[in-house]
Amino acid sequence: MPELPEVETIRRQLAPLVEGRRLEGVEILDPRWSRPLAPQVLEDALRGRRVEQLGRRGKYLVWHLDGELHLAQHLRMTGAVLADPDPEPAHTRVRIALGPRRGAKTRAERSALRLAIVDPRRFGTGELLVGEEALEEFFAARLGPEPLHERFTPAHLAAAARGRSAPIKALLLDQRRVAGVGNIYADEALFRARIHPRRPAGRLTLSDHERLRDAVIASLNAGIDARGATIDDFRHVDGVQGSFQHEFLVHRREGEPCPECGTQIVKMVVAGRGTYVCETCQPRPRAARRRRV
Ligand SMILES: [Zn+2]
Repeated sequence: MPELPEVETIRRQLAPLVEGRRLEGVEILDPRWSRPLAPQVLEDALRGRRVEQLGRRGKYLVWHLDGELHLAQHLRMTGAVLADPDPEPAHTRVRIALGPRRGAKTRAERSALRLAIVDPRRFGTGELLVGEEALEEFFAARLGPEPLHERFTPAHLAAAARGRSAPIKALLLDQRRVAGVGNIYADEALFRARIHPRRPAGRLTLSDHERLRDAVIASLNAGIDARGATIDDFRHVDGVQGSFQHEFLVHRREGEPCPECGTQIVKMVVAGRGTYVCETCQPRPRAARRRRV
């Protein structure tokens, strides 16, 4: 699934293409995408609106339109947004036609733009939010702080972890605690911080939380620098794949040597997800070690 770096990559590529253009036509081919609204209701609400800004919150792409309308788009497992695809790609769920850019200078800005939202697994969604208050409430109910924002501190992590016996990896995956981190970047961050993913969250020290905060930020920035990771369907707006999958330190590297110490990387299930660990760099918590003997 696209995580923060993948969605941020799409946002950076798409923003200069769509900002300042009007949505001239929106065709929602799959009623699952617009639920709970009927496709036509959402199409009518969006048509004629100008894209003021394309933002991101966690794994959501947020279309800020004129008239204080917002569309919170989630790509879920296999969503992608393709610009001017030719021919129309398989699994197109939404077609968007945009007019010329306001104040267009180049030929590309003067010509129309077509977008296709493709989604083989059909879990992606687009939710309409009317007004700033609705936008704030929507995200306040779903997402914790942005990890690349100054509000994401070791103290925030420590407070979120206090008293919890669930593994620290589960806490990183919980969007209400940290927005935007998924399976890839949780594994990479825990390795960088030298913390075993099964360590009970509440037993981490403040120094663990400091290393973990820094490691989450470093992993996400490495992913953004490589323009995201493609391990299933993630694609750039021009259809090109990301490259971060070639730079993973431990994720999906079962049986390969740890880049720090050479120990074989092992795969295990933590928080219901396939998890990759160097158990020399990331020592097991004591209770779990006894159980395994
Ligand atoms: Zn190691």
